[in-house]
Amino acid sequence: MTVFNLSAECYPVAKVGGLGDVVGALPKYLVSEGIDAKVILPFYDKIFTQTHTFESVFKGQSNLGDQSFAFEVLKESTNVLSFELYLIKIPGLIDRTEVYCYPDEIKQFIAYQISVLEWVITQNIKVDIFHCHDHHSGLVPFLIQYATRFDSLRDIPTVLTIHNAQYQGWLGWDKFNYLPNIDVSKTGLLDWAGCINSLATAVKCCTRYTTVSPGYLQELKTNSNGLEHLFYMEQQKGLGIINGIDPDVWNPNTDTMLAHNYSITTVKKGKENNKKALCTQFGLDDSKPLITFIGRLVLEKGADILPYIISTCLEHYKSEVSFLVLGSGEKYIEEALSNISISHHYNFFIGYDEQLSHRIYAAADFILMPSRVEPCGLNQLYALKYGTIPIVRSTGGLKDTVIDVEENNGYGILFENTTPEDAIQAIAKAITLYKNTKKIAALRKIAMGLNFSWNQSAKQYIQLYNSLITKL
Ligand code: ADP
Repeated sequence: MTVFNLSAECYPVAKVGGLGDVVGALPKYLVSEGIDAKVILPFYDKIFTQTHTFESVFKGQSNLGDQSFAFEVLKESTNVLSFELYLIKIPGLIDRTEVYCYPDEIKQFIAYQISVLEWVITQNIKVDIFHCHDHHSGLVPFLIQYATRFDSLRDIPTVLTIHNAQYQGWLGWDKFNYLPNIDVSKTGLLDWAGCINSLATAVKCCTRYTTVSPGYLQELKTNSNGLEHLFYMEQQKGLGIINGIDPDVWNPNTDTMLAHNYSITTVKKGKENNKKALCTQFGLDDSKPLITFIGRLVLEKGADILPYIISTCLEHYKSEVSFLVLGSGEKYIEEALSNISISHHYNFFIGYDEQLSHRIYAAADFILMPSRVEPCGLNQLYALKYGTIPIVRSTGGLKDTVIDVEENNGYGILFENTTPEDAIQAIAKAITLYKNTKKIAALRKIAMGLNFSWNQSAKQYIQLYNSLITKL
């Protein structure tokens, strides 16, 4: 079975968040189960593309409205990722350094989707499933059914995985002419609330959709940035499959990015050593519990309340705790975090740094996630794997994966609301917990022994694919 994974991100080629992690890992597990899972990404001018060899497998031509464009399909030559990786390159449009945030992003992703389909029909490539990830490939289920040019693909089942429904790929109807000729009676399928909405279109037109946790599947019906009614209407097509951890990348025993490797049996010393190294680097006091935040500094993640939480805790619990923040995002949050005075109890790194994130997971005692929305959340899973106790708001995937310490077999701290009060109360619990060294040692072992592997989740995806193919 050949599955085309269409995504904007794939670690280690291009990663901004969890989407990259998932698309870099899931296909490996699908391949190991006998599925021919390929990943097709837009081309990025990044370290991976600069340091690997690619062969040109196709050159084609298509149109965005009355503008024609040339594209090339490049294949990574050595299969270094354990699955076939293809990149769509369009000089001047899809050959840049960043993944998102260009003013012509809409054009980029439409051209990417059209190019993939054009390549498939021109070369008559066998595709059994199109697996679209988020809104960047969300028009594919529509295009293969209703664009006359891609008519030959119309019976191919499509799976949409929603990693984040906050971002929906909106475009004004004035951009309608970017799309190839379509059956005009179907244009309503593109519309949601007066504009073309790529994610809504994908939900309407895909064969099945999945979310990255069962909890998030339910939440979308009441909290999905305007698509609540749609998710309610289409709920019979939905399935929640929790993400896994890729141990090739996330394993404290073998992680080459760490200052010191450790396992479940050496976790105490291992974390101590990593904490010492990190605290020296950031001028923090390593005798205090280290609470960290890693992530996009956006409302979804509750990052806006971080500056207040940190300042208040530093005032109330003066010398009892240290904080380290790694992230980037909204400028006002970056500024507020930069304005908290740096001391041996607080420091921050504004930016994106993969190695530093690994070092923090290994060194920290607690990771704080006050998320308003969390489709799955990978940070808490990585933290657990590295023996770091999550302090999380009870929502979406966080609720599905973290059990509170006060419950049987619990290993984390849960709080109810994204408010400074609830988060600060949870931090107070963490500070008290930290003093109980026996309990902390036991929790770390429980955390590291948890099994959030991809094996199980990959099997669920395969079951889904099989059900779609046998239906035909
Ligand atoms: P998101 O909603 O951002 O996708 P996830 O929890 O699913 O959230 O995944 C976040 C991923 O991005 C994790 O691998 C995390 O370590 C990583 N990450 C987020 N921000 C940064 C950063 N500033 N530097 C390094 N890694 C980061």
